[in-house]
Amino acid sequence: MEMQVVQRARETFLTRRSRPLEFRVQQLKSLQRMITDRQGEIATALKQDINRYDTPLLELIGLENEISLAVSKLAQWDAPRPVEKSLLTISDQVYIQPEPLGVVLIIGAWNYPWALTLQPLVGAIAAGNAAVVKPSELSEYSASLLKALLPRYLDQELYPVVCGGVSETQELLRQRFDHIFYTGNSTVGKLVMEAAARHLTPVTLELGGKSPCYIDKDVDLRVACRRITWGKFVNCGQTCIAPDYILCEPSIQNRVVEGIRQTLLEFYGPDPKSSPDYGRIINQRHFNRVMALLDGYTAALGGQSDSSQRYIAPTVVKDVPPYARLMQEEIFGPLLPIVTISDVDDAIHFISEREKPLAIYVFSSNKKVIKRMLAETTSGGVTVNDVMMHYTLNSLPFGGVGQSGTGRYHGKHTFDQFSHHRACLVKSLGMERVNMPRYPPQNHQKARR
Ligand code: NAD
Repeated sequence: MEMQVVQRARETFLTRRSRPLEFRVQQLKSLQRMITDRQGEIATALKQDINRYDTPLLELIGLENEISLAVSKLAQWDAPRPVEKSLLTISDQVYIQPEPLGVVLIIGAWNYPWALTLQPLVGAIAAGNAAVVKPSELSEYSASLLKALLPRYLDQELYPVVCGGVSETQELLRQRFDHIFYTGNSTVGKLVMEAAARHLTPVTLELGGKSPCYIDKDVDLRVACRRITWGKFVNCGQTCIAPDYILCEPSIQNRVVEGIRQTLLEFYGPDPKSSPDYGRIINQRHFNRVMALLDGYTAALGGQSDSSQRYIAPTVVKDVPPYARLMQEEIFGPLLPIVTISDVDDAIHFISEREKPLAIYVFSSNKKVIKRMLAETTSGGVTVNDVMMHYTLNSLPFGGVGQSGTGRYHGKHTFDQFSHHRACLVKSLGMERVNMPRYPPQNHQKARR
């Protein structure tokens, strides 16, 4: 089944149907129409999957921006780009021509099932590819709605949706693709890369990890805590670039906890469980995993849970030892550990001796501290004095580095990721005299004659 879908996509790609710019624009506009027409159904699916309350803000606005940018810039992105010439090619055409890679595979994750599946698809279509879309089986309502809707709006042969779990994904991964774009955890990321290697297929891996959040002692804690609380607890902590843990000096730790407490009250009221704005954990396995991380700790805030609803309260844990279990793996849930460090050097050291994170957040009003943090750490992306907002700019490449991923996307970066940048030199058959020095016999032999 999967094999036939991929084969059909390849055969259709080879007819060059996906190549004309007008076709790509028309498909992108149709995708936009799907989002507009079906917003209500999408919102219901998200509510069923993950108790998402804020569908347009969290999933669809970014996606719509990506579509309208691609529609308006496509001709420019796709145009040949003349580059510098050498003396020998001075009268020739020298340029870079983007061209589609072929048939690509997009494997999405469940935490933002629409954005993480369709944003890569926007770039794949814009670049002229065929794309097989594999949504996550964990967000099952969104996955089956996507499978029902996409063929009604997009070319069915070029952009098929394959649903299913591990075995279907593994079957897909045995097929040959021209690029694989995977979003999810790093364990599966390794399997994807291994499967891709068998066909020498390039990959984009959008993975996760522990994104640190450093709070300097001189900041306006009221503002910092509001921003951090939003980023950590939105979607119940299930965001790849959520601040995973806080680093701060012991002298401000209690004030940070107090700032978060006040903000939680402001956002979700005295009982987050009954707030329509607070989410749930995706499934029982993840609920058990997150609760197990909390084992043995006393929460400074929150700590309550209800397994029947997969509810875990927004939870803050103080004075977490640097090598505690909570600090070993990505939390991906509403638990926020605070680790105290002695100063900015200590914070930099703490971050640098761990894997390169997907994001780093720095809260400080001290320019020197900001400069040092930027210069002496590395991560996929960084936002200073806020969290997650670098993700919203499609001028910035989004992606990880090292263990947090490879490749980048958003805006033109997605188009580039799904394009081959072909090196083109177009010469004339004239001016042959200029070429004589490179032909044998070389000068010394010519001189001997
Ligand atoms: P997931 O369980 O939905 O898995 C992602 C995809 O992998 C799914 O389509 C699934 O079918 C497939 N899959 C699962 N097991 C497989 C296997 N054994 N073989 C082949 N395919 C398999 O999502 P997840 O991994 O739980 O997502 C959470 C992780 O994703 C977190 O680590 C998070 O940080 C990361 N993430 C990263 C980004 C990003 O943009 N960098 C975005 C969202 C999530």
